[in-house]
Amino acid sequence: MRTVAVALAVALSLWAACATAAIPDVASFLDRAESVRLTDHPRFARMLAQIHREAPVLTEAQRWRLRYLDGWESAFRGDYPAAERRLKDVADHSGDVNLAAKAGALLLSVQVLNQRYEEAYRGAAAMIARLPRVTRPDARQYVLHNLSQVLDLAGQPDLALKYARMMRDPLPAGESPCDSLALEIAALENLGKLHSSSPELARTIQACLAAGNLVIADTARLIQVDRLLAEHRPRDALELDDRMAAAIRGTGYYPHLLAIQLQRAQAYLALGNDPAAEKAAMKVVAMSTPGDNSIHLADAYHVLYEIGKKRGRGMQALDYYERYVTQNTRYLNDVSARALAYQRVQQSLLAQKMQYEALARQNQVLRLQEALTEDAARTTRLYALFLLAAMTLLVLWLVRVKRLQLRFRELARRDGLTGILNHQHFMRAAQDAVAEQQRSGGSVALALIDLDHFKLINDTHGHVTGDQALRHIVSVVQGWLRPGDLFGRLGGEEFGLLLSGCGEGECVALAEHVRESIAGTPLRLDGEPIVVTASIGMAFAARIGFDLPRLFHHADAALYAAKRAGRDRVTTELTDDDLPGRSVRDPRPA
Ligand code: GH3
Ligand code: MG
Ligand code: MG
Repeated sequence: MRTVAVALAVALSLWAACATAAIPDVASFLDRAESVRLTDHPRFARMLAQIHREAPVLTEAQRWRLRYLDGWESAFRGDYPAAERRLKDVADHSGDVNLAAKAGALLLSVQVLNQRYEEAYRGAAAMIARLPRVTRPDARQYVLHNLSQVLDLAGQPDLALKYARMMRDPLPAGESPCDSLALEIAALENLGKLHSSSPELARTIQACLAAGNLVIADTARLIQVDRLLAEHRPRDALELDDRMAAAIRGTGYYPHLLAIQLQRAQAYLALGNDPAAEKAAMKVVAMSTPGDNSIHLADAYHVLYEIGKKRGRGMQALDYYERYVTQNTRYLNDVSARALAYQRVQQSLLAQKMQYEALARQNQVLRLQEALTEDAARTTRLYALFLLAAMTLLVLWLVRVKRLQLRFRELARRDGLTGILNHQHFMRAAQDAVAEQQRSGGSVALALIDLDHFKLINDTHGHVTGDQALRHIVSVVQGWLRPGDLFGRLGGEEFGLLLSGCGEGECVALAEHVRESIAGTPLRLDGEPIVVTASIGMAFAARIGFDLPRLFHHADAALYAAKRAGRDRVTTELTDDDLPGRSVRDPRPA
């Protein structure tokens, strides 16, 4: 409760009186009002009433400022619900970081006074997080101040000390260190680190007297008296109390009036002046409100109990002792309620933080997974591209190989000198064509062409010219070929011509044209014509059946007949009866 006394003294100090005037300049009027709220509270209250009465035109910012001052005044008067409503409104909706911080800071103290500890400590944690954004020195000081006192009440004197000292680090220009030092000694007292001659006490008293803040100077002195009593120096304690009694009566600050009475009672009891001790203790009881959880009241009952005990008044002593225990328990309950509330808030904030961290980690994992998936997709795309490229190359390579194969196969089918079908392939193709014509009910004729006296060409013009003549004759024959006709070199200067889809007369006519063309289109060598003739023997499937070996047999016989008949002619086949006993050739299909 002693610390609460400091808090109240600093936050809501009461004081003096002054006159009011009209409001020429609202901004400076509000500044002035706020500056005197602690040092001249009656004047502050009048100024506040005046501005409401005259209702000058206010800017948005000024309206919020006035609402904050109204909140402050409600708190001062003990109208906590109104104070909370107004301060919360400013903290949440004013949009001014510094003003909101001041309102929020005062709200913390109001909530503690209202025993709404958890809300207050939650607010304190939020305030600590917001502190770096509070840049205006007066707002920052106010926030640090309230944080320090609220945390001290929460059983966290170490933190209270830290925020108290931050108020002087640095101390804003023109500001007294009184508030900061007072909060510091309150925290040190709760830490058990003060003694009656601690330099901090002297410094605080001096600074607060210099600043004209008598209430806080008294608070420091009262703490000093408490120390003297604890150090078993009741006479010194009494002397100091006597010296400041007039000042305390002057301020009329209730917690101090109560504290000094109690200290007197305790000092007199220690000095053995029981009547004076009893009188002082009874004054404390009389001044206290029932239900108040003041430690002063508990201590007063303890003094009365001691006196009763000394006087041998057992029943009376027991009665006071019971009251003492009840009151002390009430006070301690409040202390532990605050400490517990603080711990509960810390636990829940910690749990929240861990939850956020877990979520953040989860998000991080998700992001990594996404990145991995993207990577994998990219890799897959690369693989796909790579595969596509490889496949394309493979396909190109296969096409090339296929082309080469086809070319080789084609080459393998062709006669090296003339480029027409070679013997082997002519036989295979002729076999297929004969079968096809048989299936479709068509007709087929085989013509065997043998050049006449070709040996003589070689002998006369040389082998190279002979080759040239062979190529020339092939091209002459090709001029007569129809689609589907097969033309092949069967060997040396012998050729096969398989004619499909023509009647016998048509086929013979075509063979005649071929023969005439060979004879009539001599190879010209240096302008000199080299005439070559050909003998052609023909056989027809319509006559002897769709059987290639038999067709060959008959065509060969016809060719032999053509040779015998004088060459350069076309001879059609003979029937089997016409065939001589032996054929000139016996070609076998491969
Ligand atoms: P015929 O058929 O009219 O009875 O007389 P021929 O001289 O053509 O007789 P034969 O069929 O017996 O001889 C074929 C000649 O064709 C033998 C060879 O000198 C010649 N000959 C065969 N193949 C080639 C070749 O690839 N190039 C050349 N230049 N001559 C060839
Ligand atoms: Mg021959
Ligand atoms: Mg010949």
